[in-house]
Amino acid sequence: MKLKRRGLLGGFNRFRLMLTLGLAVVLPAAALIYVNFSQLRAFERDKVLEAAIHRDFQEMLAITEKKMNKKAFSMTEDARSLFPAPGSDVEEKEKKLDEILANSPWLTHVFIYEDDVLVLRSQPGQMNDNYIRKEHDHIAESYPGWFGIEGKSIVEGLNKKKRPMSFSTYQTKRANGNVYLTSALFVLPEYSKDEVAIGGVTFDACYLEHTFFPGVLNEQVTEKLTEQGGNEVALMVYPADMEMGPEAKPLATCAAGWGDGKPEVSRKLDDVFRGLALGIKYQGTSVEALGQTWVHRSFLILGFLSLMIVGGLVLTRHIVNKELALARLKSDFVSNVSHELRTPLALIRLYAETLELGRITTQDKKQQYYRIIRKESERLTALINNILDFSRIEAGRKEYEFRNTDIAELVRNTLESYRYQIEQQGFAFEENIDPNLPAVPVDREAIARALVNLVNNALKYSRDEKFLGVKLYRENGVVKLEVADHGIGITRRDQSKIFEKFYRAGDPLVHNTKGSGLGLSLVRHITQAHGGEIAVESTPGKGSRFILSLPLTSAMQQPAV
Ligand code: ADP
Repeated sequence: MKLKRRGLLGGFNRFRLMLTLGLAVVLPAAALIYVNFSQLRAFERDKVLEAAIHRDFQEMLAITEKKMNKKAFSMTEDARSLFPAPGSDVEEKEKKLDEILANSPWLTHVFIYEDDVLVLRSQPGQMNDNYIRKEHDHIAESYPGWFGIEGKSIVEGLNKKKRPMSFSTYQTKRANGNVYLTSALFVLPEYSKDEVAIGGVTFDACYLEHTFFPGVLNEQVTEKLTEQGGNEVALMVYPADMEMGPEAKPLATCAAGWGDGKPEVSRKLDDVFRGLALGIKYQGTSVEALGQTWVHRSFLILGFLSLMIVGGLVLTRHIVNKELALARLKSDFVSNVSHELRTPLALIRLYAETLELGRITTQDKKQQYYRIIRKESERLTALINNILDFSRIEAGRKEYEFRNTDIAELVRNTLESYRYQIEQQGFAFEENIDPNLPAVPVDREAIARALVNLVNNALKYSRDEKFLGVKLYRENGVVKLEVADHGIGITRRDQSKIFEKFYRAGDPLVHNTKGSGLGLSLVRHITQAHGGEIAVESTPGKGSRFILSLPLTSAMQQPAV
């Protein structure tokens, strides 16, 4: 009945534990893993990372364009501020414009139009280039007529702007092929707003291609790298009407070059560099590849973390099960011990009372009763000693007193006080003690207790074939004490556990035999304190042999509990 109740209680605890583990840990962990996996799947499907990178790229291109515009504006502004003052004659104008050209080698042509007269100057060093001279002549011929008709509305248009400048970028020819030129028209600072006075500059195509564009692009690449790190980007400027095929040549790129492939994101330029476009991609990899790597890596990490969670759960379950088992062993221990204390006490009381009443007349009977009382009180003492030792060990207060001892004599004496009991229980007793053993440093009481525990176990766990063998001999520099029986034996699984505190094997005979599960854990503690070892060899149904080895020299240590 008792057992049943305990089983039920244990089962209930287990159920509660599993429920708690399930509800509080497994479910949230599973939900977390599931949500993360599906989120990653969604990321993979919707290409969320790719979209984010594209947005980032678009923003970067917008900033790059702004920077290019700002730079072009400020360079033009610089040149504009040096333009001739109102009322200068042609000669003065030419001189001023030549000065501007000398100061700004990045300009090819500069001109000023005022009072129907166009004063145009071009970089003297470039005038022997046929194309540039033709360009010069073309401007000189066509601009006066154009300004004569459109001049007024151009000036009006310019004056309406925040900055009175307008830019145009167009393709033209040079000796080495097509190039892009950017020109600016502006009204002049000190002139009145009604006057048709227009200034203009044309940026050198070579300068734009080799210095201006690469400069801004590089600045952007470096800024991105220092700000955000990660993969290096490639930037380029290319003609807007050009489909970026494999053979297409960018107009200008950042220092690291463009590499192969189309831009991930492109932006047609407006305002200053209309007609050109900006392209961006990653150096040496594509956004798609990056996205895939990222998703794969995330899946791997998530998989690994999930495994860790599952492992943690399994471990927790294992530990909790162990704790539960220990709790069960403890409660078994309490009931076993109280039972074990009560039985000898009841016997002692019964026999003592009978003797006291004087009803026993024969001396033989009296002797038998005295023996029973002695035996039971010895059993009680042994049990109480075990419990006391155990509690000292648990509290870390157990101390051993090692003294050089004739171990053969110690074993013989200890067995002597048990001989009667052994033989009376019908055991064949075989004692084999080497009389020539050297003195060994031991704690006498502790070793005697270990032996008594082993002998008691041999007596307790034997059924039909009653045999007890005790051997003491020397082998390989250690003294070995062997206690053998032909009893019920111990399964291989139990052999590794019987030395743990409170552990008792599941055999029905074991459960019908009284015990506390402390004896062998004490034996192990005592042996280890002597620097020795305890081993067991056993075959279920055939018998067991416990071998306690003690070093000859003192190698004592306080073992862990
Ligand atoms: P107790 O004997 O009080 O149960 P022990 O610590 O002495 O505690 O032994 C632990 C367990 O080891 C026993 O319950 C029993 O299952 C097993 N055992 C110990 N000695 C023997 C033996 N000689 N033969 C069979 N089983 C044994």
